[in-house]
Amino acid sequence: MRVGIHTDGKPVLSYVGEEEKHVICLHNQLIGGGFHWEKTIRTLHDGKIESFSDSATPTITLVETLPIERYLESVVSSEMNPEAPGEFLKAHAIVARSWLLGKIMRCHGIDADNGRIRKRDIIVDWTDTEAHDRFDVCSSDHCQRFEGIGDTDSRIKEIVKETEGMFLADKTGMPADARFSKCCGGHTELFSTCWQNTDYQYLTAHEDPYCDLSQMDPDKRNAFLRTILKDYDVETADYMDWKRTVMKKDVSRHLREKFGIDIGDVTDVGIQKRGPSRRIITIRINGSKGSIVVGKELMVRRLFSDSHLHSSAFKIEQTPEAFILRGKGWGHGVGMCQIGAANMARLGHTCRDILRFYYPNTSIRNINDDNR
Ligand SMILES: [Zn+2]
Ligand SMILES: [Zn+2]
Repeated sequence: MRVGIHTDGKPVLSYVGEEEKHVICLHNQLIGGGFHWEKTIRTLHDGKIESFSDSATPTITLVETLPIERYLESVVSSEMNPEAPGEFLKAHAIVARSWLLGKIMRCHGIDADNGRIRKRDIIVDWTDTEAHDRFDVCSSDHCQRFEGIGDTDSRIKEIVKETEGMFLADKTGMPADARFSKCCGGHTELFSTCWQNTDYQYLTAHEDPYCDLSQMDPDKRNAFLRTILKDYDVETADYMDWKRTVMKKDVSRHLREKFGIDIGDVTDVGIQKRGPSRRIITIRINGSKGSIVVGKELMVRRLFSDSHLHSSAFKIEQTPEAFILRGKGWGHGVGMCQIGAANMARLGHTCRDILRFYYPNTSIRNINDDNR
């Protein structure tokens, strides 16, 4: 499989140790591009590296070819802390493999534009992985985090090995489009709130009692979060209940700079439609020179932030100058909630319990059995 790797400019590469071992250090991999945790890190790679240029994805300058299981070791290590509970990491490996197989096999061939609207007064849009055609997946949160092999410790390797070939199959036996996000905020969300106007039997909206850790002793909670999240995620982990004050003039500016829309000075907003987790799907923005409706979930998050808000599940209070947002969750909330799933494992639930809870109407199958 081929992974497109984001860098912050011209890639800086060097061999690690002896050249014939083929471990290459990339000195400037870009992670979290456009999100609040954006930074450049050093990563190690042992796949075949080629240079790449494509104006559609300007920060991708390298493509690495490597085996799927090796890629998954990196994804699980890059998404989560290797000290996280084992049953959770196992579930994560199966989820990541299902999503990847679904993507490589292109078994979710829904109309890529089903639901997109671009009119003078309505923008309903999203980003999805259809964007890649010269490699299978990219290295950022847009697909699944891939930060090379440097962090893949032996425990993660063992866990991925234990799940080798296992994936979640839908009712027809095809790999499920197993989405996941950092924290649903107490209720999972439907696919159609964030992407095309389509829903899947296994991406249901339901309450999630496991990600709210507010009843835990704060020291214990922080210690637990430190065992499941990456360091840079712990730094920004106000995921359950958060508050942001956003100036109206900044919303006017985001509309101009990110969406190419000028409605003058933003005066007020009105929420049009929310999904079952209370994530905003569409919102009307009124300005001194007109108004516009913006959706879906990710566009709303971009509208109210210089990068992206944690989620679109927020309530709005207005003052003459600003919007005060009180929100829940981190990410789109569709499919597995990483913090909830990790907490299920802490409470003694198994990998299968976790997968059954976040992806009902699926079964676990093995790609190796299917090929025999
Ligand atoms: Zn991608
Ligand atoms: Zn949750």
